[in-house]
Amino acid sequence: MTQPTIETLTPVTWNVTPGDAPEGTPQARIGILALQGDFLEHSMMLQHLGVRPVEVRLPRDLDAVDALILPGGESTTMVRLLDLHDLREPLQQRVRDGMPVWGTCAGMILMAKSLVEDRPEPLALMDITVSRNAYGRQLESFEIDLAIPDLGDTPVHTFFIRAPGFVEMGPDVEVLARLSDGTPVAARAGVKIATAFHPELTNDFRFHAFFIAIANEELAQRQ
Ligand code: GLN
Repeated sequence: MTQPTIETLTPVTWNVTPGDAPEGTPQARIGILALQGDFLEHSMMLQHLGVRPVEVRLPRDLDAVDALILPGGESTTMVRLLDLHDLREPLQQRVRDGMPVWGTCAGMILMAKSLVEDRPEPLALMDITVSRNAYGRQLESFEIDLAIPDLGDTPVHTFFIRAPGFVEMGPDVEVLARLSDGTPVAARAGVKIATAFHPELTNDFRFHAFFIAIANEELAQRQ
């Protein structure tokens, strides 16, 4: 696999002015797993798009959401806290029942059916096998402009920070984006999405808008 070059990570500012929710469609309540990692950044992205997110820390918080984001951070810590708070089983059940879920970076590790590494024990939410340290120590962080056809013609500026990689994907998993050497870095299976990078660390709101649309559509179908 050809590795992209490392670049200095660009500091990011967020426009956190709360936006207006689009009218006309049912508005899904979007939760963010808020045990560890960059849940606040996801929260600001959603607020900009007119969505007031729900922070999920306890099983009962899941009752107040229609969709869930699993943020970047440190997957072993996140899984430990998740099990401490007895969230594993109720979260798995909600996803089995069709709740849209999106994991970014460490969140993608949580989504995996299995990991190459021994730890942590992932939640098996999506039919993907993931390696936590796909880019190795030397090249563990980089930023790159990525073509993501589902988000339009303009490439998305993306940050890979000690990013995981897809090792295997089930037949129902569709690749949403690849590096120029073909390495898949974003994938979707129905209402489940996994991204190796961090859309929450940019000023580009398209990926969050994409997930909100999926969540709203799923809610509309259930009503
Ligand atoms: N490599 C980290 C892990 O294993 C994930 C890094 C991230 O979320 N930026 O948890």
